[in-house]
Amino acid sequence: MKTIDVPPATCRTCGKLNDQISGVGHGHSAKPGDLSLCIQCGTLSIICDDFSLREPSEDEAAYLERLPDVIKARAVIKAEAAKRSGNFHFHGVRQ
Ligand SMILES: [Zn+2]
Repeated sequence: MKTIDVPPATCRTCGKLNDQISGVGHGHSAKPGDLSLCIQCGTLSIICDDFSLREPSEDEAAYLERLPDVIKARAVIKAEAAKRSGNFHFHGVRQ
């Protein structure tokens, strides 16, 4: 996983200030045109030429939100957010 500093940007959904981008499951640096997911809420953005983030168009979002890697990454982010909130539990059976 390679992490780089980027211009600080506030998530348009949750308000978190993000100033780094890390690759997920690979060691490549982020480049313009790549996807970015807010680490706190999973909001999807496109990385611009100056490494600012823009909201995807409706067509882009409709396509990107169905990608298996995006769905998996968002599930992980949601699980982590639920753990932070203190109301995350697994159901199980006593052995
Ligand atoms: Zn967010």
